[in-house]
Amino acid sequence: MKYRIDKNKLLNNFVTYAKINTRSNQWVPKDQIPSTSGQMELAQLLKQQLENLHLKDIKLNTQNGFLTALLPGNTKNSKPTIGFIAHLDTADYESSNVIPQIHPNYDGNVINFKNGLSLDSKDFPNLKNYLGQTLITGDGTTLLGVDDKAGIAGLISATAFLLKHPEIKHQPLKLAFGPDEEIGRGADNFDIKDFAADFAYTLDNGIVGEMEYETFNAAQAIIEIEGKSVHPGQAKGNLVNAISIGEKIDSLIPRQERAEMVSGNEGFYLLLEFNGKIEHAQLNYIIRDFNHDNFINRKQKIFDIVAEINKKLDYPRINLKIKDQYYNMGDIIKKDPYPLNLAQRALRNLDIKPKIIPFRGGTDGSKITYLGLPTPNLFNGGENFHGPYEFVTVEAMAKLSETIIEIVHLAQSDH
Ligand SMILES: [Zn+2]
Repeated sequence: MKYRIDKNKLLNNFVTYAKINTRSNQWVPKDQIPSTSGQMELAQLLKQQLENLHLKDIKLNTQNGFLTALLPGNTKNSKPTIGFIAHLDTADYESSNVIPQIHPNYDGNVINFKNGLSLDSKDFPNLKNYLGQTLITGDGTTLLGVDDKAGIAGLISATAFLLKHPEIKHQPLKLAFGPDEEIGRGADNFDIKDFAADFAYTLDNGIVGEMEYETFNAAQAIIEIEGKSVHPGQAKGNLVNAISIGEKIDSLIPRQERAEMVSGNEGFYLLLEFNGKIEHAQLNYIIRDFNHDNFINRKQKIFDIVAEINKKLDYPRINLKIKDQYYNMGDIIKKDPYPLNLAQRALRNLDIKPKIIPFRGGTDGSKITYLGLPTPNLFNGGENFHGPYEFVTVEAMAKLSETIIEIVHLAQSDH
């Protein structure tokens, strides 16, 4: 271990955060920020911790739900200022009364939960990578909230370590803890100007060493169809069935390009919802592609299908609305690969093999990058996210802390 992280403190912090129910809720109005009160409770607790550490510029912004703070650098260059961002909320899965189970010196044996579920290396072979470590799981009835409380705990420990070791030279470090990542909202309101970092990393998803900077380009297509209902006896040549038109549209979406048919770096169409009566039907698609041109073509394909069918109807009965949701941050990150290279060098200095993978989704970083702050993703160190089998080890979180320290330390020698 290059930097001796206080593992007891790290474990205690993680357990404290895990016990606060911060499940976000997509059904509340968008102006309710954060979407759930538990997230604010966690933000308040973190604010207190940041104050105890005597960090600078501590702000809990009640408009956007972000808690931010500054750890000043201890060298003469204030550039670059490097940001780290973790999210407060947890996934849409049972999250009340989380009871973290601690398995010190994990021996690889099956962990049986009281409700009959079990965590078994036969089902999850990766467990074998953590033998001898301090493993943390839930109790089988809830998620654990590793995503993203491991990210939060790792960041707090890194900051506390740097404060204790002023002999380690480092660049200014900005911390941010944001709401409602899991429901794809929180980052929309992030104030990058106020955050004033030169680039940043989200600490989300992934095992130790994983990094992501390619995300999907994403859009949603809502199709509304107006039919015409008449008595079935007089239907011939008269009735227009919106359901049938919806079926026609869906039949023209290429079979081989549906979400269930593709993987890796392939894009797709996915029909999320199809509601219909004779008079009215609605289809809701999502469109995803890593490649920008393919993304445009996919949207065009849906436009063309709708235009073609509309032409054959008595009047244009189909209304199509396509809305872009987020974009592949890779298109921007590649223009200045310094943040990516810096993180990879930091990992190698810690004897961790960097593994860059395309992320089949979006991250807060996809939005924040397009707001103007390049923000690739670093791991949080856990596994089996969003359900009862989530786990993380204290050692993995300590590796995250070390990675953060090494990044801000290395950057200082570059400038
Ligand atoms: Zn997450």
